[in-house]
Amino acid sequence: MVEVTIYFHYGGEWLTSPEPHYDRGCVTYWKGYDPDLISFIDLVNEYINKLGFVGVQELIVLAPTGKYFEIIGDEGVRTLTSFISTEYKSIHLFAIEDCELSIDVTDIVMHDGSFLLSPIVNEGTDCSESEDDSNNGMVFSCSDYDTDELENFVTKKKRNITDSLQDYKEIVKGMAFKDIAEAKQFCKLYALAKKVELVVVKSDKKRLRYTCVVDGCPFLLLISGNLTTPGVSVKTLVDHVECGTAYDNSLVDYSTIALYFKDKLQSDPKYKVKEMKANLHRVFELNVSEAKCKRAKKEVLESLEGSFVDSYNKLEGYATELRSCNTRSDIVIDLSKEALSNGKRKFLRMYICFKAMKLGFKSGLRPLIGLDGTFLKGKTKGQVLCAVGQDRLTFISDMQKGLLEAVRTVLPEAHQRYCARHIEANWCKRWGKGELKSCYGGMHGHHLQRSFRTNFKR
Ligand SMILES: [Zn+2]
Repeated sequence: MVEVTIYFHYGGEWLTSPEPHYDRGCVTYWKGYDPDLISFIDLVNEYINKLGFVGVQELIVLAPTGKYFEIIGDEGVRTLTSFISTEYKSIHLFAIEDCELSIDVTDIVMHDGSFLLSPIVNEGTDCSESEDDSNNGMVFSCSDYDTDELENFVTKKKRNITDSLQDYKEIVKGMAFKDIAEAKQFCKLYALAKKVELVVVKSDKKRLRYTCVVDGCPFLLLISGNLTTPGVSVKTLVDHVECGTAYDNSLVDYSTIALYFKDKLQSDPKYKVKEMKANLHRVFELNVSEAKCKRAKKEVLESLEGSFVDSYNKLEGYATELRSCNTRSDIVIDLSKEALSNGKRKFLRMYICFKAMKLGFKSGLRPLIGLDGTFLKGKTKGQVLCAVGQDRLTFISDMQKGLLEAVRTVLPEAHQRYCARHIEANWCKRWGKGELKSCYGGMHGHHLQRSFRTNFKR
């Protein structure tokens, strides 16, 4: 018999966009549980008696695919337990309290085989996986939690690297990090954000200790974990007294600068080393050498290069996966013929049209199609084109010249018109917003030729 661990998530919040998902929150669990003994009422009662829920209006389980399903009564529980195997034995449950808004998720009984499918895009997870619980593709895939890990899970939050490094301006006791490397990275960005220079007193696999460079400042930061569990946290923290600004900061090394400028360089690889230096001076009053910025820039561009290559290499796998779980969808990847003849594989374009969209359009959408494209910034360049709908009677696009020609060639029968609001905008640009604008209004408001002419002559 496979014993299961049931995780009860609570205290977070449900977000509905882009897909329903549970954000943050806490976890409690039953370990080594016999699946045959699971009953709906016991699960609900855990939420009510132990976790203080007033009542449970929906009991929800997170499938290994990342989709949520509702469990209704013991029939739902039996469907769930039918999936249990050595591969799937960690069950993550969520509940919607009586007073909360309900969440629209599929009843597990209607799972159509999508409960255990492997995830569409396989991305490496940061968590270390244990042998017996590997590859279940879950959001919470870090094998079985123990209490320390759970605490980590609870106090960890996502930090974004913004212009002002807002998320890096505060350290608090109990703050958790994935490992010492992540903690170090945080401390360096903290030093940059707070304009303080820290000194590493101790740094090994499980401990990090910093003091402040300023004589007499009591600042002390100790981050550690223990040998049996992953994750480290802030154990001791004594804050700075007034230490002034660190204009030169040895803790801010080139990799910290690289981290700070990563997004900027990704969208604008031509962003200058001089500008990087000036930016750091303006925002953080920091003096750094151009050489340091140059090295940071080089590192970012090289790692982007690697990740671009990686992403393109994943495309084919992505297409295969799409084809296998969306049969009769059109998924085409074109490689450059010219490059192929030289023995190289160069991406040219990719086209995706899901079966559901084809069927949906044909069986009842309005005969209308919108086509738009956008240029990609950053290293790759190129365009993303997106079509909404399918050709019948009406075709919406911008006034891009190539597009107008292409539509005329491919769809010679189609009527072409310009959007009145856009013509008005251009009209106003040329003639101003005065009297002539009202003439324009008079023109397009009239369907009869005669009144159009009258207004046009005006
Ligand atoms: Zn200090």
